[in-house]
Amino acid sequence: MERHPITDHIVQLSQEGQLMPACLTAFTGEDGLLLVDTGMAAQADALKAAVAELGFAAPTYIVNTHAHPGNVGGNGAFGDVPVIIAHHGVRQQMGEDSHVLLDLPDDAMPDLEIEADMTLRFNGERVQIIAIPGSHTAHDLIVHFPDSGVACLGDIYPGRFFTTAVYGGKMENLPVMLREIIELLPEDTKLLYGHQAGVGSLDDLREMLAIWDEMIPQVKAGIAEGKERQELAELLPEKWADVNIPGGGFIAWVFCLQRDLQDTGEPQPARASILRPMFAAQKTENGDGIVAALKTAINDGLAIVPAHETDLIQFSYWLQRAQERPEDALALFKYGIELFPDAWNTHDSLAEAYAVVGEKDLAIAHYKKSLELNPDNANATTELAKLGVE
Ligand SMILES: [Zn+2]
Repeated sequence: MERHPITDHIVQLSQEGQLMPACLTAFTGEDGLLLVDTGMAAQADALKAAVAELGFAAPTYIVNTHAHPGNVGGNGAFGDVPVIIAHHGVRQQMGEDSHVLLDLPDDAMPDLEIEADMTLRFNGERVQIIAIPGSHTAHDLIVHFPDSGVACLGDIYPGRFFTTAVYGGKMENLPVMLREIIELLPEDTKLLYGHQAGVGSLDDLREMLAIWDEMIPQVKAGIAEGKERQELAELLPEKWADVNIPGGGFIAWVFCLQRDLQDTGEPQPARASILRPMFAAQKTENGDGIVAALKTAINDGLAIVPAHETDLIQFSYWLQRAQERPEDALALFKYGIELFPDAWNTHDSLAEAYAVVGEKDLAIAHYKKSLELNPDNANATTELAKLGVE
């Protein structure tokens, strides 16, 4: 982990991520260590080493800005020693969806869930923990150290790119919340972001607000005219092309806006987790065994909905890449075709899984099928070219 000193008592720690770094903050002093966020589970050992380097065995407090796996992944690294503080609702979110793959121990769960703001006295300073719900996720916090003149914004403003609203967050609340933060924080506050190393300022927030203020009405108008997402993505003017980075792209931002506008406010039926039975099975079973466990769950009443396609693909890639079990992943990708025969992405993923295990002809066949279902699938075109198919 890289260390970036911010003040005498505050150090930013950053971890390399797949697309962007994950940034943590350490506040040290005579009472001990307070950590804001804990990074990715896969880097928990590096986090422990960084904490030891700061002269501590464990943090006294951990504050999670929100429930994303890259923010809570290292929560369990210090056993039950730290008191973990989060917004209420984070504990529940940490038991759902992709968190299942993290297999976090009980010690990783928040000990203290707050509904409103709170102030801690620690290391002779005030630590203001401020609830910013319903923005990047349904349950976000920012952490302000007024005596040090530093604030950690988590992913309310994660860095200079298009952030999204997930886990019950709302796009239209993001600018509202940014304006509140600008009102709240003293002008010279040093800002620390969730996915960009270094120090920022309130002017960064003002710039992003200006971008959003210009783009939100345009995207909304485009949606009303019935424009496709790709056409909407082209609304971004050239002057902001550098904000449109991979992993924080404008198209994902457009998707979130579209989703929020289509939200009728009707409660959505909860979708049962397919990750849970698959995750439990993979501990002892191979690919066929995992498929069998999923089939059993379906026979027992688990209703498959289109949104499960993403879960299945995510789990299979986790198996293929993180767990290095390509044959087991292939069995699942194949079953994915049975569950979602007309889904282009499932064919694209199966094609890749075949390519990984050296089944070139089958890889080609499924990339072609994916392109048939979605002629805009640029990945399939690229991969087919690599496989020697024009
Ligand atoms: Zn996040």
